[in-house]
Amino acid sequence: AAHPPPATTIFGKIIDGSIPAKIIYRDNKCLAFHDVNPQAPVHFLVIPIKPITMLETAEAADQELLGHMMLVAKKVAADLNLQRGYRLVINNGEEGCQSVFHLHIHVLGGRQLGWPPG
Ligand code: 5GP
Repeated sequence: AAHPPPATTIFGKIIDGSIPAKIIYRDNKCLAFHDVNPQAPVHFLVIPIKPITMLETAEAADQELLGHMMLVAKKVAADLNLQRGYRLVINNGEEGCQSVFHLHIHVLGGRQLGWPPG
């Protein structure tokens, strides 16, 4: 039988349940949970179960998974009543302000957002 990969980031530990999170949605490909340090009234993250380090390391074989994550973001945003609008963000790498090296989509909403970001 296949063994799951080791939990190498804090998000890996959220996936395997060894640290708690406010989980909103889960299926066999991804997980959505509230960000511990929210930057808007609603701020959740969608992550793949597969430990993809960052967008930069995603491959053509991940195409369906990446699309699935965006549709999960949309579904969870609707479930959380973000009908007035919201934003998806992927921070990639050092200058992109990525701090956790397990791919994640930020979803922010519940207030008027500004553009462009800093
Ligand atoms: P990044 O800067 O990598 O794009 O975003 C990482 C996000 O993960 C940050 O918004 C941060 O607040 C969130 N985060 C970091 N550690 C934890 C944690 O242990 N639990 C939860 N729920 N969010 C976390």
